Parts: sequence; structure tokens; C-alpha cells
Amino acid sequence: MSDFVIAAPATPSVAVAGSTARFPIRRVFCVGRNYAAHAREMGKDPDREPPFFFMKPADAVVAAQGTVAYPPATSDLHHEVEMVVALKAGGSNVAPEQALELVWGYGVGLDLTRRDMQAVAKEMSRPWDFAKGFDASAPCSALHPVSAVGHPADARIWLEVNGATRQQGTLDEMIWPVADVISHISRFVELAPGDLIFSGTPAGVGALQPGDRVHGEVAGVAAFDFEVGPAPRQP
Ligand code: MN
Repeated sequence: MSDFVIAAPATPSVAVAGSTARFPIRRVFCVGRNYAAHAREMGKDPDREPPFFFMKPADAVVAAQGTVAYPPATSDLHHEVEMVVALKAGGSNVAPEQALELVWGYGVGLDLTRRDMQAVAKEMSRPWDFAKGFDASAPCSALHPVSAVGHPADARIWLEVNGATRQQGTLDEMIWPVADVISHISRFVELAPGDLIFSGTPAGVGALQPGDRVHGEVAGVAAFDFEVGPAPRQP
């Protein structure tokens, strides 16, 4: 018996590897331009910018398996493969030295981006929300607990589309390592259990097409495989 005037929405969640239990999602934070080579391919100087953040709705996270929908209102859907950090605890002004104690586990996901809409938003100094935070914009693998994978620091991260490598890098190329990312975000908001962090993408971002087969992996940590769904009918 609840006091809600409509049925309460379901709690968004993501699978846990080797378990029927799921990880509940509170919020999704994303780091912009956290690999120098990707910052350069987007026309920015990685040495002169502090980290910046944006968000996606919690229910933008979908399983990176089977078929993932191609979204409406774009003809330039970009893949950004990223390690995903899942928090079991929160806090404000977390010191980098304590930050990894907040982590429950890790996965790998895609920060899907309607790059054409983002370009317009940048040009017109408008928000990125609808370029970044649309339905199913955050496909994510099952999560693996720290007890199984530790805290990955230098693993290879890559993305293949139809068997061809599109993106690759190593985690130690992150301008701001995971502990620093957690610490930075916690200066602006109080982090909480259930928060996910998409930790930035290596170079090689590009467009996905309907029917593409997509494989993403962080070596020794997590992997996913899915197919991009058909293009939606445009109104
Ligand atoms: Mn990204």
C-alpha cells in the first residue's frame, strides 16, 4: 500500500555477472574528454581543460545485449566505449585517496551520442541533454564486483563494429583516473550508492548504423555484444 497517486516507476537496474541479483541505479554521471587522443579528435587541447561532467537519466541504461534501439532524431549516432564505475557508497568532498573505497564494481558501456544534435547544441550554446540523454543511450554490460576484478588501472579498452576495431586505448591513458573523477564529482554533488560513472572514451569515435554488430570490452573486466536495431520511422 503506497501513497503514490500513480504506480511508482520501476527502479532502473543493471545485471550483475554470475548472479540473478541486480545493481540498482540512482544516477548516471559521465566524464567529458577524459582521454587526450579523444579530446584532440574533438578539436580540444587536453592539457588546458579541467574535467567536466554531464548526466543521463538512470533509465537510459539498458542491457548491452540482444538488440539496442537506434534512436529517433539523428542520422549520426556515435559510439563512445567507456569503463563504467558502480558506486556502493557516497559522499561529498571525497579525497582521491579514499575514492576507490566507494566502488562496488566495474563494467563496460557505451555513451551513445546523437553527434549531429550535439554539434547544433555546441554551436548555439544550448544544453547537451537531448544529444546525450535519450532513451537507451547508455547500453551497459553486466557489472563485475571489485572482489572479482579489483580496481582496473591499465587494462586495454576497445570497441569493434562488425569485427573491425574502431576505438582502442588503455585505462592508464585517462587524464583523470577513476579516483580523481569520483573526487571531482563529489565536490559538486553528494555522491550516493547506486550512482554509475561513465569514465570517458578513448579515440576513434564514429557512427553506428542500423544492423551493426557491436563488441566492447575492458580486458579482464567486462565485455558486451549487441546489434543496433532498425532506424525508426521519422515523422
Ligand atoms: Mn563519453
